Amino acid sequence: MIQTAVEFAAVSRHFGDIRAVDEVDLRIAEGEFFAMLGPSGSGKTTCLRLIAGFEQPTAGQIHIFSRAMAGVPPYRRQVNTVFQDYALFPHLSVSDNIAYGLMIRGQGRSMRRRAAEEALELVRLPGYADRKPGELSGGQRQRVALARALVNQPKVLLLDEPLGALDLKLREQMQDELRSLQKSLGITFVFVTHDQGEALSMADRVAVFDAGKIIQVGTPQEVYHRPRNAFVADFVGSSNVLPAHLTESFTGQSCPASLRPECIRFVDTGGCLVTVASVSFLGSATRYTVLLDGTPLTVLSDNAQVAAQPGREVRIDWDNERLHCMSEGHE
Ligand code: ATP
Repeated sequence: MIQTAVEFAAVSRHFGDIRAVDEVDLRIAEGEFFAMLGPSGSGKTTCLRLIAGFEQPTAGQIHIFSRAMAGVPPYRRQVNTVFQDYALFPHLSVSDNIAYGLMIRGQGRSMRRRAAEEALELVRLPGYADRKPGELSGGQRQRVALARALVNQPKVLLLDEPLGALDLKLREQMQDELRSLQKSLGITFVFVTHDQGEALSMADRVAVFDAGKIIQVGTPQEVYHRPRNAFVADFVGSSNVLPAHLTESFTGQSCPASLRPECIRFVDTGGCLVTVASVSFLGSATRYTVLLDGTPLTVLSDNAQVAAQPGREVRIDWDNERLHCMSEGHE
């Protein structure tokens, strides 16, 4: 049976009037790659710090592997954190940085060296043990930070925007590597990001945060194709929101509905008539804004042949099953 690695029961963390985390319920399964996604200030990092034990809830309970965490200090939690700025000691060698936690726990020098070398193998940096952090690239420093967390054999690894400082290409490579490392080690990863593409491509499940609350938890497919509300629809990729009266005219159901731009196609006959408001060439695709009964809709099309110029009338169509009804508010 799969255990629950991390559980939040009505957890809040308020700072005076600021509700950084507000009555959050959450269950993360053992072995899961779990992403916390949301805009800046939505409470993701505070959640991570609550799991790590750097913050205490102002209300509610946190359990890690069924053990209540109230009063349990960070170093007794079987949890390690990889920070965005890596937080490496500049004067220590890579090996000593990685084995620092083991030294604090009193492990001997040769044991520490061996553990550090094993961890460097895991992150594909063998042979770097004697360098100083200043002699490494950003990507290599990131790997050392990861090795330093893994050497402690945590049951839960927390990663706070660990790829934020890397350029796009390296970022994509590290996304693949982190994912395969997580799957091969079987450690539960909790990953904070404000990059929806990163969350969707890496995670088993994603929690979407807004203003201290989790608005939706689901697989990447669920949050993308069945967003609970307009905030999720908009934050997780771009989406069109059809007002209730328009949805009703297509489906008979009166609710605001999300419709992904790539689900709309241009047609010669049938569908509905719209006016093109703008056209942007994106390289691999073209983005159009069209007006349907005054409602702007984004259309993403890889078809460079569409003769849609601003001001023109064209026809668009979609499968009505692509319309996903959403609630109006947050809940
Ligand atoms: P980012 O992506 O920018 O890191 P986040 O989603 O991780 O944002 P948090 O860092 O968790 O958000 O912050 C949530 C809210 O709590 C913010 O309004 C922040 O200013 C506030 N906050 C966080 N820590 C403290 C603190 N120690 N004292 C006061 N307010 C805080």
